[in-house]
Amino acid sequence: MVDLNKDVKYVKGVGPNRIQLLNKLKIYTLKDLITYYPRDYEDRSKPQNVCDCEDGTEVLIEAMPISKITEYRKGKMIISRLIVRDQTGTCYITWYNQGYLKNRFIPMKFYRFFGKVSRKGNRLEMNSPVFDEIEQTKNTGKIIPIYPLTYELKQSTLRRIIENGLAEVDGKLEETLPEYILKENNLLDINTAINRIHFPIDFSDYNKSRDRLVFEELLTTQLALLKLKNNYEREKNGIEFSKEVKMSDVINILPFKLTKAQLRVLEEIDNDMESQRPMNRLLQGDVGSGKTVVAMISAYKAVKSGYQAAIMAPTAILASQHLEGFQSILSQFGIRCELLISSITKKKKTEILEKLQNGEIDILIGTHALLEENVVFKNLGLVVTDEQHRFGVKQRATIATKGKNPDTIAMSATPIPRTLALILYGDLDISIIDELPPNRKKIETFAVRKGMTERVNQFIRKQIDDGRQAYIVCPLVEENEELGLKSVIELEEKYKNETFSNYKVAYLHGKMKAKEKDEIMEKFKNGEIQILIATTVIEVGVNVPNASIMVVENAERFGLAQLHQLRGRVGRGEYQSYCILKFDGNSETIRQRMKVMCDTNDGFIISEKDLELRGSGDFFGTEQHGIPEFKIANLFEDMGTLKKVQKIAMQIMADDPLLEKEKNAKLNELIKSKFSSRIEI
Ligand code: ADP
Ligand code: MG
Repeated sequence: MVDLNKDVKYVKGVGPNRIQLLNKLKIYTLKDLITYYPRDYEDRSKPQNVCDCEDGTEVLIEAMPISKITEYRKGKMIISRLIVRDQTGTCYITWYNQGYLKNRFIPMKFYRFFGKVSRKGNRLEMNSPVFDEIEQTKNTGKIIPIYPLTYELKQSTLRRIIENGLAEVDGKLEETLPEYILKENNLLDINTAINRIHFPIDFSDYNKSRDRLVFEELLTTQLALLKLKNNYEREKNGIEFSKEVKMSDVINILPFKLTKAQLRVLEEIDNDMESQRPMNRLLQGDVGSGKTVVAMISAYKAVKSGYQAAIMAPTAILASQHLEGFQSILSQFGIRCELLISSITKKKKTEILEKLQNGEIDILIGTHALLEENVVFKNLGLVVTDEQHRFGVKQRATIATKGKNPDTIAMSATPIPRTLALILYGDLDISIIDELPPNRKKIETFAVRKGMTERVNQFIRKQIDDGRQAYIVCPLVEENEELGLKSVIELEEKYKNETFSNYKVAYLHGKMKAKEKDEIMEKFKNGEIQILIATTVIEVGVNVPNASIMVVENAERFGLAQLHQLRGRVGRGEYQSYCILKFDGNSETIRQRMKVMCDTNDGFIISEKDLELRGSGDFFGTEQHGIPEFKIANLFEDMGTLKKVQKIAMQIMADDPLLEKEKNAKLNELIKSKFSSRIEI
């Protein structure tokens, strides 16, 4: 049996320098090495006739030099030129600074060359090709894997190391999936799959290998989540909150009537809270559907039953807003709420931490700051994470460990289709608020091109003159934050000094200090700022009912789900609200995406469409999210496999809820080795 956990440094070809480069790629063991999958392939297996080679393409030719290499010098550069030909034509090959090639080629003998060609009139040229003698297949004559790499490590180097790694395990890998799963689903065995994913013989070979590995990855993830859920369901060590504490006490003093959906969800939560089993619930509800009040009423129940509650939000702005909302109602019941965010003074923080530990704080609301080790509760009973897609599984788990099996609610405004919900949150029970509070006006949405800018600006002026406020959002491209930042600042200058010089304009972006951000948000809330130019930091949950216009610049760069979130910042008050999507580009996809936004306000429909039309996997926007990282599967491309796998996972679980049967032993082992470091399985 091979030891897959052996340090990668013992693999042939890995010296002290390379070990560091490999470690940078998170390759530490032999297993990491052989499961470091290619991101792409280059087909160097099919030779073309010289006369057929198209300008600008990468091609393989089989040809013979008509003479030896000729060398030229250009300054310090050595230029090597080789003229080769096959039956159909002549090709001029050039290498730069490869003096050692001088006597490498024997005239009138066949070689394989692979490289990019250009055609100048009748003349075919090839630059810096890789090559082999005709009987070799070192660099050509096969399908070559391309790995995701940094520039320090060469493709050919990693390729050789992986080849060496594969040679060590060749045929000796222990099968990871049970025999019956392999048979029923017609899957390749693990040895073939691993070998061929790196070095496929042809593309159908590649497809079969990939299918097998994707299948395994999705199946183990899905089973792990379902098993986790089954575990929870058996647990009887959760907190039983008091049946005497009535949620209706709060509901009755609210300034509005709860929707049917809110009441239904509260009942589900109430039942969970009163039962012995720990609650693990995902609360989904479109933007503006009123999730916060549900969290608040649940927190009331926890506190009045003698426990503390923690509310974690992704931004300081949002946390402060929650604090305000909670206090306005819960202070009437003598419940003490506090805010913990990174910008508070040290003194204040010390005081809060002390009170928290003594039980003098009932509800602690805050940001990631709540996760810090020194945040200790007296008896934490309920944990709520808002906009949970901004937090990872781990962070949700961490906050829960601050109590003894506390009940948890994860709130999300990103409605997602069932198939995805099951693979992302299969361990959770799901509640859905599928109804907006009454009398909400539909947000009118328009998609416009640059030519309309002046009319849009005129429209904004009119709204503001009527007393409203506006958001203008520009994209912050993740890979190039600097550029994004510049565009916000430039836009602000232009809007402030020219377009809207008679109005009060300010800007907000993620790089600002929390305190600065809060100040600006506060001013916007109070109406001291009329136009707020911002990056997507305002995407999440901010509530300013007087704001009635949302303009999104370069709307084509956002995912639909994200646009929907942004749009949800308006239409929160009594005023008719508008969302104006300024977009560029003529592609059919862009047009369709804009149309979806104009046609519907329903987050579930939008998320389905987003999935259908998604440009480059931007379903969840570019922001950080809680999606597990897959090594090979792609939730979007592999939707078909995912559906199949989910069906199988359900069947397995129905038959063997905790994977205790002998025939499923391998599966149990697989999910343990894969997930046990992250979560308790
Ligand atoms: P989200 O689900 O997006 O977090 P919020 O909880 O912020 O939405 O609620 C949006 C607004 O709707 C808030 O101002 C809230 O007070 C209000 N709201 C919540 N529920 C109702 C209701 N049943 N009727 C009227 N307004 C409500
Ligand atoms: Mg919210």
